Amino acid sequence: MGASIPDVSQWEPLRLVVDLGRSAALQAFAEAAVLSPPQIHLLAAALLAAIAGTSPRMVWLDRAPVGHALAAPTSPGGNADPAVVQPEACPAGMFLDDGACVQLPQDESWGEDPVGAPEGEARWNGHFDRRGQWQAYEQIPRRPDRPADYDAYVYPIPAGLPGGRNVISGYDLDLPDTMQRRGRTLRAVGHGAVDLPQRRGTPIKMIDLDHQIGDARVLWVGEFMGQSVITLHTVREGGREREYVLIFGHIDSAVSGLRRGSTVKKGETIAYVGDTGSPELVHLHLETRRVRDGVDGMTLWPGAVLAPHTTIVCDPRNVLPLR
Ligand SMILES: [Zn+2]
Repeated sequence: MGASIPDVSQWEPLRLVVDLGRSAALQAFAEAAVLSPPQIHLLAAALLAAIAGTSPRMVWLDRAPVGHALAAPTSPGGNADPAVVQPEACPAGMFLDDGACVQLPQDESWGEDPVGAPEGEARWNGHFDRRGQWQAYEQIPRRPDRPADYDAYVYPIPAGLPGGRNVISGYDLDLPDTMQRRGRTLRAVGHGAVDLPQRRGTPIKMIDLDHQIGDARVLWVGEFMGQSVITLHTVREGGREREYVLIFGHIDSAVSGLRRGSTVKKGETIAYVGDTGSPELVHLHLETRRVRDGVDGMTLWPGAVLAPHTTIVCDPRNVLPLR
């Protein structure tokens, strides 16, 4: 969980609803399940008062410094201050938040990660392939809210470059054709992944993607980009659940026993760094692809993982966890 939850036990109950922003208030509500009984009572009292909308003291509390005792209004008549606005009652099932009636969460998992990541939008781009033919494709570029610096992210292997740097070749499918990766030994134009150099045999340890739900599932172990492991991850994004595929390419070998359908937790070793299918460079090719809506990720056998109608290649920085 990214946002920290205030210590509500130190707060006046009505203050909680007034002072917290909309999403923070709902997160605090969801956290009630792990609070002590007195804290739950505090939260319940705050939310019920807000739902009823009956307490004009909410407005004064909005102005009270944290920790101060409730004070009566200083002006005669109680609400002579024109800046004081009387809260209006909200319908059942809603509570007042900053002057608006807001729906209470229905789904019990709602409060844990209500929206997840912002939705990365697919864009069309294109390049000349090695035969000189123009190829148009969809890809999901880095979202503006994600750091451009590759070293701001967590990877499945330790940094392998001087200065603690990780990436020798990054994602370039969002760049103009002439700025994409090319070379005599490369079979394709452009690079829809990150290449992470490391010593042969370095353990590759599973990571949880940003806003991931549950554990990763293994989709494939075997020949793909050299020897490879492909895993499937569910991520909350744009208020819904989406599946992402991770391709761990050019590995030396996978751990024994790892097979399609295996569940892998964060930190578990899945494979070892190698150079299969990439004899010029020992490294991990880490590619992320978003499974298209309506496609069940577990039905993607290796040939279908790269098919444009099943997945969209994505800048890994959109989903890798931040350091
Ligand atoms: Zn690569």
